[in-house]
Amino acid sequence: MRESELLAHIYQRSTSLGEHVVVGPGDDCAVVRLTDNGPAALLTTDQLVEGRHYNADTPLDLVARKAIARSISDIAAMGGSPVCALAAATINSEFTQANELFDAMARWALRWSCPLVGGDIAIADGPTVLTTTVIGTPHRDRGAVLRSQARSGDLVCVTGSLGNSLATGRHLSFEPRLLEGAALCDAFGNKLGAMIDLSDGLGRDAGRIAAASGVRLTLESSLLPRAEGADWRSALQDGEDYELCFTLRGEAPAELAGTPVTVVGVVDAGSGCRVRTPDGEFIDGAAMGWDHES
Ligand SMILES: [Mg+2]
Repeated sequence: MRESELLAHIYQRSTSLGEHVVVGPGDDCAVVRLTDNGPAALLTTDQLVEGRHYNADTPLDLVARKAIARSISDIAAMGGSPVCALAAATINSEFTQANELFDAMARWALRWSCPLVGGDIAIADGPTVLTTTVIGTPHRDRGAVLRSQARSGDLVCVTGSLGNSLATGRHLSFEPRLLEGAALCDAFGNKLGAMIDLSDGLGRDAGRIAAASGVRLTLESSLLPRAEGADWRSALQDGEDYELCFTLRGEAPAELAGTPVTVVGVVDAGSGCRVRTPDGEFIDGAAMGWDHES
């Protein structure tokens, strides 16, 4: 079964979520009010699986960092700020460094002002699995930035550079774009449209914005900011960049919190994500990216 099929099944089941759920499954975070008309909270959870998201020889500190940073990145994708985290681990019975692993996760969580406030450990055979849940708050003025808020006429922008993240190890050491997401909300308010963090490749993740917003995104291969060693295909389809992709009405900033911003395309009426290749042909961007088979 593919992850996308399984997720689609979960989304379809989420039709009656109650009045406290503002945004259910299908965005980077759920948005939930804990009390009637109370402030909204952002909720997100992620798993890190040995042999899939890191290797047995990956330094423990980087494993801990990635386990926290992936969920923090989902808070960034909503323009929010983290409040606290919970971590649960299923640890292989031969793994002897569980204390060090949790200490390292707590340290990294604090680095992003997100204290670890609880967790659980189970011992089992099989690979180590780390599950991190982060709770955050949306931007006070802008509110949660959703995948569904792109509008025809918006520019499509990305932070940083894309591609080759697995080969270079950047997937272990990336900096979640919290400051950049907050700076966008501060500076652009409702001129900021949709946003997503790039975990499965720009082509596929831009396709998710298009689908959620009911618009078409057209990306220009020649504009993609390429990480070292990445060509345009790699920038478009490699996973685990954890940069932000967002849509914006008006003029795009050159940088946010010191991170470069690049305009890579436009939003118009239609559906899907298409990419203009260097030859001037259009290809389906949503077909280019990771869909983890499981
Ligand atoms: Mg995400």
